[in-house]
Amino acid sequence: QAKRASAQHFAFYSHALTAQAQHQWTIENGLRNAIEQQDFELVYQPKVAIDTQEVVGVEALLRWTPFDKASIPPNIFIPIAEETGLIIAIGEWVIQQAISQLQRWQNTNRRELSIAINVSGRQLHSQHFTEFVETSLEAAQVRTGLLEFEMTEEYLVSTTETETCLATLERLKILGIRLAIDDFGTGYSSYAQLKNLPIHTLKIDKSFIDNLPEDSKNLAIVKSMINLADNLGMQVVAEGVETHKQLQCLRQHGAHLVQGFYFAKPVAPEMLEQTIEEIKNKRP
Ligand code: C2E
Ligand code: MG
Ligand code: MG
Ligand code: MG
Repeated sequence: QAKRASAQHFAFYSHALTAQAQHQWTIENGLRNAIEQQDFELVYQPKVAIDTQEVVGVEALLRWTPFDKASIPPNIFIPIAEETGLIIAIGEWVIQQAISQLQRWQNTNRRELSIAINVSGRQLHSQHFTEFVETSLEAAQVRTGLLEFEMTEEYLVSTTETETCLATLERLKILGIRLAIDDFGTGYSSYAQLKNLPIHTLKIDKSFIDNLPEDSKNLAIVKSMINLADNLGMQVVAEGVETHKQLQCLRQHGAHLVQGFYFAKPVAPEMLEQTIEEIKNKRP
């Protein structure tokens, strides 16, 4: 009886694994192809200064739409790209793309917008990462202070190579790149770590913003995060702001920047100018 149950169990798991492995494999191959064909796109979501309602920068978010297929969200393909190491090549494409965008803006005398890109741990740990960044920036001659790297809190606290990670961050900081902790509040960082990391920006995770202002616990947490950032001399961004009520609440409690569907979804670069105008005219 037990033997049969365990045999069935085994069959069940092995079937599930096969299906999952197959799915992974399909995406992995698709990604390899996409890298070759440069089949990606960056879309840009505005970050808005809460007091002036000016767009001060954008976050670049990666999009992959395989030919003839529906687009696959980053939450699905990024983890696979990380596991397989393909994130290195994809990440390099993202960095170069963001830098060329900065350069285009610089050449056309547009307003000065910063670009934040998401950088995964696997990239930060890769051997030639900082060199690659340095060379790309030099070649393009853009103001490095306009580039920001977002790293998740989860990664920053879970890395076992704390020293190497810190050294990399210090090097990036010296280059003039701004550093942000993404999804802040979801990753158990300690005050000791926060104090020691060369970080400019805290991005409060959307999950704390969702039920503002009604959720009194989230409100208390958000208020203390804003305070913490203020006291550490960091900039604070609220992620995933969808309603006017949330915006008012965040303004009342002194958040610096907000990002979210209330002001704008991520848009293609051609749409950005128009989006920025619309944001200025939105209800404050
Ligand atoms: P993230 O860096 O925390 O980015 C914020 C995500 O929330 C984005 O999803 C954005 O479209 C979404 N978002 C922004 N405002 C709102 C809102 O008001 N409501 C809701 N419901 N969602 C909102 P997206 O673009 O699907 O990206 C998901 C995650 O994938 C990112 O989370 C980031 O961790 C990762 N990712 C995206 N692009 C890249 C990339 O180029 N490299 C790496 N390593 N990771 C990336
Ligand atoms: Mg991010
Ligand atoms: Mg985030
Ligand atoms: Mg996230």
